Amino acid sequence: MDNCLFCKIVEGTIPSNKVYEDDSFLVFHDIEPAAPTHVLIIPKKHIASMNDVQSGDFAMIGELHRVAQNVAEKLGVADTGYRLINNCGPDSGQAVAHIHYHLLGGSKLGALVQ
Ligand code: IMP
Repeated sequence: MDNCLFCKIVEGTIPSNKVYEDDSFLVFHDIEPAAPTHVLIIPKKHIASMNDVQSGDFAMIGELHRVAQNVAEKLGVADTGYRLINNCGPDSGQAVAHIHYHLLGGSKLGALVQ
């Protein structure tokens, strides 16, 4: 998708600090970490937001949870705990219109909603 920041990261035209990659997913460190561990899990397929997930994407989005489990293990937060967040739309503060899940951990996390 033209002019999508995360598609450009998938293509490699914008660099990222990768944690994990396979045919369907990319995981990379957030450029402005909000916790000691803060990575973004994205499908390589361009889907603008949770609202745009189609029924044909459900299996892939389910698979993303397996990626999250494995990444949490790899980054050492599986046992201490972590948070998986998807922002969808203006009220959530979604800034990048390519569906992504924040995986945050590495310290006691604050309140979910401010
Ligand atoms: P959102 O607010 O849920 O859309 O989250 C977007 C996230 O992308 C923010 O946490 C940003 O810090 C992060 N971000 C923006 N640009 C980059 C980048 O080039 N590399 C890694 N993370 C980025």
